[in-house]
Amino acid sequence: MKERQRQYLHAMGIQPWEPRYPPASTERAAATDVTPEAPAPQAAAEDKPSSEPSPPVAAVPAPDPAARESPPADTDIPQEYADWAMMVPEDSGNELDFELEPPRPEDRSARIGRMDWGALEAEVKDCNACELHRTRTQAVFGVGQRQAAWMIIGEAPGADEDRLGEPFVGRAGKLLDAMLLALGLRREQIYITNVLKSRPPKNRDPKPEEMQACWPYLQRQIELVGPKILLSVGRIATQTLLRSDLNIGRLRGRVHRFGAAAIPLVATYHPAYLLRSPLQKRKAWEDLQLAYHTFVAAPRRGGDIDS
Ligand code: SF4
Repeated sequence: MKERQRQYLHAMGIQPWEPRYPPASTERAAATDVTPEAPAPQAAAEDKPSSEPSPPVAAVPAPDPAARESPPADTDIPQEYADWAMMVPEDSGNELDFELEPPRPEDRSARIGRMDWGALEAEVKDCNACELHRTRTQAVFGVGQRQAAWMIIGEAPGADEDRLGEPFVGRAGKLLDAMLLALGLRREQIYITNVLKSRPPKNRDPKPEEMQACWPYLQRQIELVGPKILLSVGRIATQTLLRSDLNIGRLRGRVHRFGAAAIPLVATYHPAYLLRSPLQKRKAWEDLQLAYHTFVAAPRRGGDIDS
């Protein structure tokens, strides 16, 4: 072993490994020629009854004192042993004294929760986290002012939304626009999206696993927009946001709070339902007025639209 190597080991508190066999080929050959003189181990013979014959004991060559006194040349230490001696502490027992944790897959919700607008939109566009990606034409992300004070959340894209890639279009969308204009709000001043980003076939109700898979996207959208008020339209969106199984008739007409930021949330009927049940429009108008007064009363923040 080179002197420099020995100094490294000493500085690291490692006892260098010193091979004790005679390294030189001539000496090794001389050692094997030594006549076996050593007696068989006594303990092995004494443990046996004297009547039994002792098993043959392999002859052990007596160590050659001359060979012990001659340290091997550096060139006789296999390099892999020298490297190993440099790396393994003396008391390690040749075993790992800690357990390796297998790498855990990153939590999807946590990953989505760190996305900016660009990454989030790209993720939704290519999302296949639930079965709805097989039947949709395209994912419908959301539209409008990304720092809006008002955020409107519906249930899921319908046939027109699936085709055009925008939420609340068609007849229901036109009715929503008219209701907002009555409050002095234009669509481009508001952020509009759905709980589900892909259309359920034949507009069936979303399945729980689909809502669960899509939830992190909406949650991140709400965080990024940071609205002053949420308006949920329809039973599914309202029940999902409020984690409630009450029907929309019980949930509308009052101000709820959403999330850790306690964002005011007002629920109302879906415009598609109002098209089928025009008598409910009066209640929807009351809900919008409640939302408006809640918005006006809430503290101002940067990015608020003028009302
Ligand atoms: S509904 Fe949501 S979770 Fe399902 S595929 Fe579409 S974007 Fe992904």
